Amino acid sequence: MLRRTFVQSSLAGALAAAARENKMIGIQVGAVSFVDEGVEKVLDIFQQRASVNTLFVATFTYGRGIAGRQVPGQPLPDHGKQEYDTATFRGGNFTKINPAYFRNTALKDFRAPDFGDYDVLEAVLPSARKRGMKTICWFEDVFREDVPNIARLQEKQLNDRNATTLCFNNPDYRAWLLGMVENYARSYDIDGIMWGSERQGAFSNALGASHGGGRGDATRVTCFCSFCERKARERGINPERARAGFQALANFVRDGRARKRPVDGYHVTLWRLMLRYPELLAWEMLWTDSLRETYAAMHKRVKEVKPSVGIGWHIWHNNSFNPIYRAEQDLTELAKYSDFLKMVMYHNCAGERLAGYIRSAAQTIYGDVPEQELLDFHYRVLDYKEKSLAEIPRTGLSADYVYREAKRARMALTGAKTQLWPGIDIDIPTAADHSKCTPDGTRQAVLAAFRAGADGVLLSRKYSEMKLANLGGAGAAMKELG
Ligand SMILES: [Zn+2]
Repeated sequence: MLRRTFVQSSLAGALAAAARENKMIGIQVGAVSFVDEGVEKVLDIFQQRASVNTLFVATFTYGRGIAGRQVPGQPLPDHGKQEYDTATFRGGNFTKINPAYFRNTALKDFRAPDFGDYDVLEAVLPSARKRGMKTICWFEDVFREDVPNIARLQEKQLNDRNATTLCFNNPDYRAWLLGMVENYARSYDIDGIMWGSERQGAFSNALGASHGGGRGDATRVTCFCSFCERKARERGINPERARAGFQALANFVRDGRARKRPVDGYHVTLWRLMLRYPELLAWEMLWTDSLRETYAAMHKRVKEVKPSVGIGWHIWHNNSFNPIYRAEQDLTELAKYSDFLKMVMYHNCAGERLAGYIRSAAQTIYGDVPEQELLDFHYRVLDYKEKSLAEIPRTGLSADYVYREAKRARMALTGAKTQLWPGIDIDIPTAADHSKCTPDGTRQAVLAAFRAGADGVLLSRKYSEMKLANLGGAGAAMKELG
């Protein structure tokens, strides 16, 4: 080899290695995996199989999406305890709770009893530190109905019943969220905190504009609690008009689901409702702004108590399907209080989920548009080039989808300091006859994210549902990059 070529190629190699060093390779993992498999063994697997340098430890949730073993009905992966935890899973907070940070909230009793007084951060942090791995606390907006005092924090539905979801405008919930980030930041030597809320406002919810959105009863939309109504009045929105508008919208959706076509068609009738009741959109934006204010308040609290701790958000997969929800994920706005954003780009389960969204929206917003035409329209407006509606549940979406989504987010974040970490799908459950992850699919998705300029990738949703070979696909991509 000529000396100059040798110098150039080793320089290129060094630069590539340096670039890889700076990239965040994260994985989401719940307490059960460390309990079942042992901390050192799990961390060995992460480092050896996938070059992971950052742990996203699920420290709080009542859901099974990020905590617990494989969900029932799905095949067990090739590691971990070979059984389901259906009967034993409860959830809650998997670390110690300092009551000093929860004085201003009625929600005080939320320690996960699943593993006694096991504290996942105490168990993992020393080993992670020794290996030079970072640790981020990862928690989500998912609750049970039998948590003590929870009813005081719950959202109110249009039909006046309590929802299982909690209200961002309820001072008890706001205080709890701020207590959570303070508890983690002050009590543990962590590198960051990520929180996620996989929800949207009443307008999109009524229309079933999400994957899995076709099942909802439109009179169950939120939030009409006294805190939200007061906030609405302060903004000049009349809550009674909003309720009347949402009741009319619920009737429109009920008829659409029953395939009773309005005289002037679905799209025209929906526009007539929106023009008659501008409160429909105002209420949607009230909800979205309340979420943004929650993000900003949590960010502020962390910066006050420990500025070195980064804080950012998991952005729901619906961002890839519903244009209304995408419009609400204004990254220029979010960047102001986000040290990082995990933008969900789960390529494999996206096929099944996008098809689900289309089938739901095809009975409401676009009730007159044949489903394949509706999907083609979405490919245009969302800027995807993917397969037909009949195919995508069985093929998933391509790495090109990940590239386009990461590229779009990268451009939207131009000039911002916010780190962009696409969420990559490894074995997120799909129906038995639908597309499954493969090592090469994972590899290509990771490469696409970096080709689009991502600062890292976050392997999702939880290690306890991942097959080791598919995790290895991420490692293969990192080797190619380095
Ligand atoms: Zn409310």
